[in-house]
Amino acid sequence: MSLTNRILVSMVAGILIGSLLNLLLHSSGMSDTFRMIVNDYVINGALDLVGRIFIASLKLLVVPLVLVSLICGSSSLGDSARMGPIAVKTLGFYLATTAIAVSLALGIAVLIGPGSNVELTSDAVFNAAEAPPLIDVLVAMFPSNPFNALAEGKMLQIIVFALLFGYAISHAGEAGRRIASFFRDMEVIVMKMVGIMMDLAPYGVFALLAKLFSEMGISAILDLATYFFTVLAVLLVHALVVYPMLLKSFAGLSPLIMMNKMRSVWAFAFSTASSGATLPITLRTVERKMGVHNSVAGFTVPLGATINMDGTAIMQGVATVFIAQVYGVDLSLSAFITVILTATLASIGTAAVPGVGLITLAMVLEQAGLPVEGIGLIIGVDRLLDMVRTAVNVTGDATVSVIVGKSENQFDEQVWLNPNADLEPDMDEAIEQEMPTA
Ligand code: ASP
Repeated sequence: MSLTNRILVSMVAGILIGSLLNLLLHSSGMSDTFRMIVNDYVINGALDLVGRIFIASLKLLVVPLVLVSLICGSSSLGDSARMGPIAVKTLGFYLATTAIAVSLALGIAVLIGPGSNVELTSDAVFNAAEAPPLIDVLVAMFPSNPFNALAEGKMLQIIVFALLFGYAISHAGEAGRRIASFFRDMEVIVMKMVGIMMDLAPYGVFALLAKLFSEMGISAILDLATYFFTVLAVLLVHALVVYPMLLKSFAGLSPLIMMNKMRSVWAFAFSTASSGATLPITLRTVERKMGVHNSVAGFTVPLGATINMDGTAIMQGVATVFIAQVYGVDLSLSAFITVILTATLASIGTAAVPGVGLITLAMVLEQAGLPVEGIGLIIGVDRLLDMVRTAVNVTGDATVSVIVGKSENQFDEQVWLNPNADLEPDMDEAIEQEMPTA
């Protein structure tokens, strides 16, 4: 079985076994000893252990990968004067797709009216954090100490440092060429580590999902069914209609090929609910399976994982309408525009880890003049939606990367058309195979 299929099978198995454990734990026929064994040794023992090690090993790749890929990318572009236009185009696409995503969410939510028949019943409390002033956010992008940025995994600071470093390499003559070749070798090695991690993914994905579903109260979904399915519907429309249309019209490429190549990235995003932890897989897929050259992908993918969260913006759009309806507040046209703007900005400020979209939702609600406590109403179903919206978030990053890569001629159509791309032996393995044995 191919690796992608093994990951998908383990995903389904994880969901089924987790749900089964959940049923068993809640059925009255089970003894306390059985519950104790399942809870302590299976769910919080083996599954927790494997799941947490899996997430940690994915995260360990993020900083080295983003650093070396961006340095390679920017050093190869540095003297071609394309860096500026690529950055502008990428930012433009990221902001535009997010604005489309919130608008779509607001439109569909107003049509469906997910909160019109909901009684205020939740007593969950939510304490909103203050949003930092914009100027501080901008200043915080610039590292005063790059080693500190690397150690703390501050993605935007790492991006700024790596771009500057790569640009300097491309202007530093012979010394620059030597260092560039070092980073190119490093990239091959870090990508190899990503490949090794992917081979282990079926176990990690299984453990994460089995644990999550064994603990998840499905009944919360029934109470909030209209909200839940409205968010889900908009996420699907965005992923299956909006992105394909953009890909077709701006790059003239087949969305079916894209979806086929995204399958394993989706499994990672879904099971980790973190675009940050999925980043190594997204980057590898965009470069090796989709054929976007590292000079573009090395910049667009890490940036997208950090600031482009269309799925999160969709949840925030639907949640705003839902909360307004539950509290009986009529949203004016200016409130809608405020929501579109703040949700687009909130998407930039949302960290690429589980559940943060709910925290930045506080900012959106405040700007729209809605009660922030409303978030308590939707917390119960947020984890499952988080998994799906993270898959949408990473799809947006990959789609924009392909569009920008194609428009900049940093795109290999052979790789894109090859369904087995990335399964081919690496260069060094090919060389080893060709060497005559002694
Ligand atoms: N979990 C999301 C992500 O990492 C962010 C969020 O919406 O909470 O992409």
